[in-house]
Amino acid sequence: TDITELLLSRIRDVADYPEPGVVFKDITPLLADPAAFTALTEALAEVAARTGATKIIGLEARGFILGAPVAVRAGLGFVPVRKAGKLPGATLSQAYDLEYGSAEIEVHAEDLTADDRVLVVDDVLATGGTAEASLELIRRAGAQVAGLAVLMELGFLGGRARLEPALAGAPLTAL
Ligand code: 5GP
Repeated sequence: TDITELLLSRIRDVADYPEPGVVFKDITPLLADPAAFTALTEALAEVAARTGATKIIGLEARGFILGAPVAVRAGLGFVPVRKAGKLPGATLSQAYDLEYGSAEIEVHAEDLTADDRVLVVDDVLATGGTAEASLELIRRAGAQVAGLAVLMELGFLGGRARLEPALAGAPLTAL
């Protein structure tokens, strides 16, 4: 469709970043183009409305850039999920495995309640490890998962299949 072509045309492939052999999808040209950034925000806000979300979680750091305007556009609250050690209040933490080593993400426990249906927003779904950990945080906070919405899914990395149990039927939308 038109929007898919517009968005794709504003994503730049950067070879051998952050390491040799990897092709990084750089979304900064899209952010710099007001028509593309607005179209993306509106498409993600439609997903939020369709899924009945009450809150948007953005995953550090590009999920903040995309998720915050989506929350405003959809009239919903925004909740940051950050790398460990960045949030000042009482947090829930979730560790997950990386190719080498592990990482940990956190959310302020009081930002999610049993009444919330949460849509997770990020730019790129790769292996699914980050998204999977965020879905676990939502579940542990006692809130419901409305879904996961990303700009782009790297299908060959198998994230969608990995996320099936954690999504438990909630939709994964890749624009
Ligand atoms: P995963 O946990 O799914 O393997 O990796 C997803 C996370 O890494 C996302 O937060 C995403 O921002 C980042 N990421 C991985 N690969 C890329 C990429 O090619 N481009 C961008 N922009 N982000 C990526």
